[in-house]
Amino acid sequence: MGVVRPSTPLDRVAGAHDAAVLAVARRGEPVSRTDLAEALGVTPQAISKILARLMERGMMAGAGSIISGPGKPTTLYRIVPSSRRAIGLHLTRTRLRGVVADLTGEVVSHREIEIGHRQPVPELLETLTAQARELADVGSGTLLGVGLGMPGPVDFSGGVYRGTSAPDPWRGAEIRRMLVDALAMPVLLDHDSRAAIVGETWSQPDLLRNAALVLVEDGLGASLSIDGSIVRGAHSHAGEVGHTVVRMDGAPCECGRRGCAQAEFAASLGRGDVEDAAQVLATIVLDLVRLVDVDRVVLGGSTVYAHHEQMMGAIRSALEAGLREEPWVHVEVMLSTRGTDLIAVGSACEVLEHEYGLPTALVGPE
Ligand SMILES: [Zn+2]
Repeated sequence: MGVVRPSTPLDRVAGAHDAAVLAVARRGEPVSRTDLAEALGVTPQAISKILARLMERGMMAGAGSIISGPGKPTTLYRIVPSSRRAIGLHLTRTRLRGVVADLTGEVVSHREIEIGHRQPVPELLETLTAQARELADVGSGTLLGVGLGMPGPVDFSGGVYRGTSAPDPWRGAEIRRMLVDALAMPVLLDHDSRAAIVGETWSQPDLLRNAALVLVEDGLGASLSIDGSIVRGAHSHAGEVGHTVVRMDGAPCECGRRGCAQAEFAASLGRGDVEDAAQVLATIVLDLVRLVDVDRVVLGGSTVYAHHEQMMGAIRSALEAGLREEPWVHVEVMLSTRGTDLIAVGSACEVLEHEYGLPTALVGPE
């Protein structure tokens, strides 16, 4: 099975330049060569080459010119949102949410369906395929593929759902390969929280260079952006904060241990003690801040949204108390800008990043 567009080191350099120009252009305002040269720290001549490449591919277009002072008028350029689109899917144990996003990562359409709890793999595949086919008919521009974000552990490079040790019908399923075969289009599989942070970095460019995204859906996970790079780790398991122990001999967890944050959080919510659940969340957020030194914490996921005031309040208090002796450490806590679409959009953005020439694990039919 081949990678859609094999990339050489030089492709990746060109890709990174294209990506940087598109990232500036997708903020909305038309831009000039000088704007882009300043934003990227390269010469206007270099920008001309990049723009020519992107215009040839239909991703950028001219946007008229303005007269600013004496001399030649300044030519403006804009991104062409409708030139490309990607499907993003977000799978949970009970729901499937899907979006179509354009080249700027804006949602063109979304839909959500309930699915049977722990569907067997063949049924799950049918559900995913049907949703993707429906969304494939929405929007305009070249359809680049399908991104699927789901609870981990997920093998990002292999496209396999690793699963948990608890009875898990999806464990070991080669979901990416099965979807590629069924849909005959490129597919990418990622951990839900990793997809979420990609989507969030698209909507908050430059703000999430050192950030943790804490996601509370069925489980509790996190993803990290450190020094501008999204962290995956040796087995693409980085950020499994849900399975860090917060209470010795605490509630049994599906991973086989006791007192994991995820198990304690669920146990607290289960007995209606939102305050206690919020404390568990606050504990792991402070631990994350301590461990990897981030200055932004983004919270997302349906469980957080349902109790966001208590969750945000508990986290802010824990950070204030925990960092009292270090007034120079400032950490901003915020809710995701993407709401319930967070993971589906992020999965679509991951597919779009491949078109930008950034390395991803998008794999297409042979
Ligand atoms: Zn656990």
